[in-house]
Amino acid sequence: MNLKDLQLAELENFIKELGQPKFRAKQVFQWLYKDGGVTEWDQMTNVPKALREKLAEEADLGILKMLQVQKSKLDGTRKYLFELQDGNAIESVFMKYKYGNSICVSSQAGCRMGCKFCASGMDGLVRDLTPGEIIGQILAAEKDTGERINHVVVMGTGEPFDNYDNLAGFLRLLHDPNGLNLSLRNITVSTCGLVPGIQKFAEDFPQVNLAISLHAPNDEIRCRTMPVSKAYPMPELLSACREYAEKTGRRVTFEYTLIKGVNDQKEHAEELVQRLRGMLCHVNLIPLNTVKESGFDTTAKKDAQAFQALLESKGIPATIRRELGDEIDGACGQLRLTNRRK
Ligand code: SF4
Repeated sequence: MNLKDLQLAELENFIKELGQPKFRAKQVFQWLYKDGGVTEWDQMTNVPKALREKLAEEADLGILKMLQVQKSKLDGTRKYLFELQDGNAIESVFMKYKYGNSICVSSQAGCRMGCKFCASGMDGLVRDLTPGEIIGQILAAEKDTGERINHVVVMGTGEPFDNYDNLAGFLRLLHDPNGLNLSLRNITVSTCGLVPGIQKFAEDFPQVNLAISLHAPNDEIRCRTMPVSKAYPMPELLSACREYAEKTGRRVTFEYTLIKGVNDQKEHAEELVQRLRGMLCHVNLIPLNTVKESGFDTTAKKDAQAFQALLESKGIPATIRRELGDEIDGACGQLRLTNRRK
């Protein structure tokens, strides 16, 4: 059992089963999250030795093994490849911004959504990550950098709403005042467009930010690159987004990867404006990181700027994603893909 999969209340029950008083659970829980978390049971200095030994017999600290780290000399970005207990590998990216440190975490090993431009989904879904494995990525990065992370985006490998219960467990752990105590407002969850997940998320976590991987102005183009669009067409998806924005008062971010000749022309920008008009939203334009296997190319910088200018001129706030870790940054999923094919 990975101790980091447990909420504090569950840990209290577990500690009770071991015949120990409830307050010990809080002490153990705090050690799991302090300064990237303890790596040895003996480091829990205020926990009696007998309990530490019992815990070591029954449970695991859930520490992720770092297989690889690529560090940017330019901006402090670090791209990690971690190994899970069962040998599967996942990626996370640590980034430095003016407003603090941010991490992009994976929610699944692999992904079954099959987006054509994505290296993460190329081998399909291997398995869901547990709450402890998702939070373990943050702790491992804090340990490695020696720095506190204050923004989290669930935008790495996997579709978070395809693993909803574990995502929810992770968000609760992340927000726990005895653990990392991260404000829900500093967390963003990104989905490729699973409508029932969006609706549930608006009910369960109205303070967490929502991002949608949109990547197209209409279903005809979206279906070519994102099969999810067949199950949840854009009118249904955008209406769920409007409901989310109205219910939560939070701005929806639309991620739009610019792919040369596919979705980056003037008529595409105009169509996108029609779709999003009147919605509390923001468009984040992402120049595609070329994935050799995908056969797609990135849009030229000046074309990306023209796309942005058109959206802005029609009242849709838009930015072009700052390219962090440029010299190390293969497309998301690339490290894992390379590792599997070695
Ligand atoms: S873009 Fe996201 S949802 Fe689509 S295949 Fe890749 S990881 Fe999955």
